[in-house]
Amino acid sequence: MFPCSECGLCCQNIAGIEELKSFDLGNGVCKHYNTVTKKCNIYDTRPEICNIEKMFERKYKQFFSKKEFFIENAKVCNLLQEKYQLDKSFRVIIGDM
Ligand code: SF4
Ligand code: SF4
Repeated sequence: MFPCSECGLCCQNIAGIEELKSFDLGNGVCKHYNTVTKKCNIYDTRPEICNIEKMFERKYKQFFSKKEFFIENAKVCNLLQEKYQLDKSFRVIIGDM
């Protein structure tokens, strides 16, 4: 499983993601993002684009190993966190798999 640290930043930065266009409140924040719990309100039925495991299986496993794919995703998480100056404890580190 992808070691998401639940920083919530991906769900607050969906601008430009075609599949989530109708979810954007207009400021890049997803309408299903819960600002209190910092979680997704529709987690169990969230779109495929929000599900790293499913996206890997459906689209990316022909190009990457799972570890490589996770590392690429983690880079985006960590770049976002750096941009928002989030505490380093949130950084996503892909260890042995
Ligand atoms: S940006 Fe990464 S670590 Fe943060 S909630 Fe999204 S997937 Fe998880
Ligand atoms: S649907 Fe859920 S997981 Fe997907 S961007 Fe919105 S809040 Fe995040």
